[in-house]
Amino acid sequence: MIKYKLQCENLHHFESWFSSSDAYDKLNKEGLLSCETCGSNSISKSLMSPSVNSKEKKPLKEGLKSKPNNEQIILKELKKEIEKNCEYVGENFEKEARAIHFGDSPERSIYGKTTLKEAKSLYEDGIPVTPLPWIDRKTN
Ligand SMILES: [Zn+2]
Repeated sequence: MIKYKLQCENLHHFESWFSSSDAYDKLNKEGLLSCETCGSNSISKSLMSPSVNSKEKKPLKEGLKSKPNNEQIILKELKKEIEKNCEYVGENFEKEARAIHFGDSPERSIYGKTTLKEAKSLYEDGIPVTPLPWIDRKTN
């Protein structure tokens, strides 16, 4: 069975079921289809189609997909800034941060890997530590 949206010459819209598209063609050719509202035998398939709507929605969907969210942009900018201005010390982060703090190492901004325990210990000694979301923590 096929459901068609139909339209008469007076632009009345209605729906009807047919066993096949051939059955629709045959009934319409023989004038056996009539408008439910005005009884007109001049019937055609309605031009109303769901594909018109989906076509309009498509660019919006693609736009959302390709546009990175604000968080990603901010993170990318932050990472760029830090990598430009700070020295990467890797696993020596805690040692180096302490050395800078106590004047044993030249003062500069550094970033690297640390454990939560090390970070907490630095914080307790009054050394500022900021977690960076893209750097993996060392496992204890
Ligand atoms: Zn009609």
